[in-house]
Amino acid sequence: MSTAARGTRVLVLNSGSSSVKYQLIDMADEQRLASGVVERIGEPGGAADHTEALRTVAVELGGRGLGLDSPELAAVGHRVVHGGTRFTAPTLITDEVLAGIEELVPLAPLHNPANVTGIRVARELRPDLPQVAVFDTAFHATLPEAAARYAIDTATADRYGIRRYGFHGTSHAYVSRATAALLGRDPADVNVIVLHLGNGASASAVRGGVCVDTSMGLTPLEGLVMGTRSGDLDPAVVFHLQRVGGMGTDEIDRLLNKRSGLLGLCGDNDMREIGRRMAEGDKAAQLAFDVYVHRLRRYVGAFTAVLGRVDAIAFTAGVGENSAAVRGAALFGLDSLGVTMDPVRNAVRGHAARLVSADSSRVAVAVVPTDEELEIARDTYALAAAPQGG
Ligand code: AMP
Repeated sequence: MSTAARGTRVLVLNSGSSSVKYQLIDMADEQRLASGVVERIGEPGGAADHTEALRTVAVELGGRGLGLDSPELAAVGHRVVHGGTRFTAPTLITDEVLAGIEELVPLAPLHNPANVTGIRVARELRPDLPQVAVFDTAFHATLPEAAARYAIDTATADRYGIRRYGFHGTSHAYVSRATAALLGRDPADVNVIVLHLGNGASASAVRGGVCVDTSMGLTPLEGLVMGTRSGDLDPAVVFHLQRVGGMGTDEIDRLLNKRSGLLGLCGDNDMREIGRRMAEGDKAAQLAFDVYVHRLRRYVGAFTAVLGRVDAIAFTAGVGENSAAVRGAALFGLDSLGVTMDPVRNAVRGHAARLVSADSSRVAVAVVPTDEELEIARDTYALAAAPQGG
């Protein structure tokens, strides 16, 4: 009972390549005190770099009496995209840990550099404060080798760290637990397929709270069709683009990550706009939707087989939470798998976790809003700031 001076607030920082998102959460009641985003880092009119962006965050919070210098602040939690095989749980950041995260940059060249910069600047601003790295890959560290291994030469794979790591782990962890809570059951007794459908998209198979398969791989490029990423394709497509198309590695990287997926198929990456165009009979938008849904159904089928028994399918993130059309099409006609939607429930909009399956459905279908920031804050607080024992 001697921790009177310890604060209960956690600042969650999500430093992307061109933006820094932040939330300040009071862990005493898990209330959000502030949230915001500093965008267009490095672009005209935006912050010059991540240092300036984080200083902007500090000024915005300070202006609301919630400054980084507040004694109420207990810790800073950082979203870090790639933890490799080394970081399989939230980790208190030290110089050595930061160096370890930097060493993983070759595995996540689009993401980890910004995470590293965010950590470095936050530590400069508050060197005394515990800072915790929460990894997007960590929830998938439990994947059995059969699911994590690619069928390539083992020595080559091991030498370059090539395996399936999976991403969106904080969301899959949060949503699989929240789904069990919605069903009024212990997560340890429930098998869930989580479909995280945002601008990035991934599926995971969670058996009794433990992740056993996931659609993203070495990088977030594999798996489902996404806003701008292709998801699964024959790796020989890359050789073909090099040999026949004369394209370079970086050009192909950009093509598959930034100009593919829904955007590549129809010129729009926003499912709302695609819905509007489909209603007007737009063929390209319809094709994009159909390819997206077809891939989703393949993963639902595959993960049903992986799990053997499925208790729930949970839709989350921007598309999953909002698009009744995607949910309905993805699970249409799967009664033989025990999945029966209730079209009326599915069409009702809402912000709370809810069931959209029929009462007769053996598999519960749920819409479960994700909250990655809260999950990061919980992990951070548990590790850095909770009162230590008696
Ligand atoms: P997220 O990455 O989770 O923020 O999801 C962003 C994506 O969610 C957007 O690109 C849209 O495609 C999709 N989205 C957001 N709101 C809606 C909506 N009302 N209906 C359909 N899709 C939506």
